[in-house]
Amino acid sequence: MTLDPTRPETSLKPAAQRPGALDLMLLSVACGLAAGELEVAARVARRSLSTTDQLYLMTRHFVWLVPVVNLAVFVFFGGVLALLMFARPRLGGWLGPRLLVGFLWLPMLLAAGRGVYPEAWLLLSLGIASWLAPVIMGRWAIIRARLPWGLAVLAALVSIQGGSILLGDWRKQRQEDARPLPAAGAPNVLLIVLDTVRADHLSLYGYERPTSPNLDRLAQRGVRFDQARSAAPWTLASHATLFTSRWPHELGVQWMRPIPGSATTLAEFLGRQGYATAGFVGNTFYCSYDSGLDRGFTHYQDHVLDTAGAIRSAALVELTLKSLANFAPLLPAARFEVIKLAAGERKGAHVVNRELLDWLTRRKEPRRPFFAFLNYVDAHAPYVLPPGVGSPFGPGPQSEADVLFLAEGWQALDKTRLPPQALAFARDSYDNCLAFLDGQLGALIENLERRGILDQTLLVVTADHGEGLGEHDLFDHGESLYRTEIRVPLVIVPPKGRGQAPVAVRRFVSLREIPATIAELARPGEAHPFSGESLSRFWNGPGERESESSIPSPVLSELVSPNPLNPNQGRSPASRGPLAALAEGDLVYIRSQGDGREQLFDQNDDPRELSSRAQSPDWRPMLEKFRALLSRIQP
Ligand SMILES: [Zn+2]
Repeated sequence: MTLDPTRPETSLKPAAQRPGALDLMLLSVACGLAAGELEVAARVARRSLSTTDQLYLMTRHFVWLVPVVNLAVFVFFGGVLALLMFARPRLGGWLGPRLLVGFLWLPMLLAAGRGVYPEAWLLLSLGIASWLAPVIMGRWAIIRARLPWGLAVLAALVSIQGGSILLGDWRKQRQEDARPLPAAGAPNVLLIVLDTVRADHLSLYGYERPTSPNLDRLAQRGVRFDQARSAAPWTLASHATLFTSRWPHELGVQWMRPIPGSATTLAEFLGRQGYATAGFVGNTFYCSYDSGLDRGFTHYQDHVLDTAGAIRSAALVELTLKSLANFAPLLPAARFEVIKLAAGERKGAHVVNRELLDWLTRRKEPRRPFFAFLNYVDAHAPYVLPPGVGSPFGPGPQSEADVLFLAEGWQALDKTRLPPQALAFARDSYDNCLAFLDGQLGALIENLERRGILDQTLLVVTADHGEGLGEHDLFDHGESLYRTEIRVPLVIVPPKGRGQAPVAVRRFVSLREIPATIAELARPGEAHPFSGESLSRFWNGPGERESESSIPSPVLSELVSPNPLNPNQGRSPASRGPLAALAEGDLVYIRSQGDGREQLFDQNDDPRELSSRAQSPDWRPMLEKFRALLSRIQP
């Protein structure tokens, strides 16, 4: 190459070292897509490597949504920097690439290091950028020439990630369609879980407020269980047993970890029997696809995929909203709106119903019986009703401050220090949510009746656990094995013509027996993999007249560790170690594995579990019996 000696030496440097506005926009597109891909990789790696934090807690579509939202954020940001470049070319040319390259790393660091101060990640990103941006701009001519290829590769990656979800859904549907139909007469199965509904706050069980008129009517058509107990006082562990019939300790269920894939689920069993399977869940924290509860379902709807939810999926947007929510100069009304946007609207029972009904309408093979699972989360804290819904009990929230007290403060506050009117307000709010939930249950039942579906359906309505509202100075759930958290409603309505007159069962039963019950009623005579016995023995067999000498199925409840949200500030029994409870006859035995403390309550004369008999010599034989039973079940 011949150099022109008349040109100054500096002119040999590539002119593209100082990028123009168009270069900046191209760089923002590339950084946006790359930032999104890095964030996705960080989330996947974090889930794979962590033993204690394995839930994504976001829509499964995040694999393509996160890059797309990051792209939009970076393009917006790049546009602002391009405008700056027109006004102040030198400043824009220096600052633009550094900021874009700096923020490229931030989403990945935020996603990988949840719990670390975001300011630390921001500083680290900018530090990387101050080193990397000059390197990139020094080779800009080369990078610019190859950028279209790089962008094409990134766009292809995002498309493949989105396409893999659609392909997975298509394959599951094809597998279901290929299975032979079950024999004629196989009923539909509808399993409805009322998340966080304690039995004694329902009028179905004598509560003084009419919180459950629709459930009351439904129970008139089937079997009502008065002493049904969940296997665990929190969502994932309880649902895991409800789906598999395995005790929580057998499954090794832990907070923030999905259920293991070893035990057959009800959806897998019924799917193999030729059922169409679908789940519609309101509790998008512990019932989403990443909890493993979706296993066996062909169709599973958890997170609502609306625009606001999609935008929130990116770590940068989440960080911005959180920062704004804590930004003191922001007007209270604006802050309230930001908090609402950051939290997202809870998926109410009315939405869950609509999803089920839409799915039923869209079904291409209506002759195929279905197994549908519904989880309604409306009674779960923060006890806030959907907008526009009235409060039949108590005055209801009177201001944004009231809503914020429930939405922001309730779980974190030390409730024992609150004035009585604040506790009464929370209890009223809980009851109002129960009434709303019951109304939605009634609306669904009415719709299914209108469609002629209910008569051909085995309906099971229950709850995954209860809720502490101040008894034993405990609030929330996942904190103890007292009956406030363990006793749940259970109503089973067999298909028309296959049931008995209304029956009430007063014995203790465990939700662990639901899989065996459904399997036996839906596919009589078919071998199934579920432990326990079918509860139909209470209305088809000797039932309440069951021989005293027969060995009842154990009614075990377990809690390995306390609620990580710490709603009782470390005062809960679970904070002293794992808990186990057994119920039999009229007695409930609770043992704390941590300090060896034992409690024995007689449900007949001490239903509030205030006076333990464990220390009384008169009750020693019963104590010994429970100890022996527990050591057999929990070796
Ligand atoms: Zn729950």
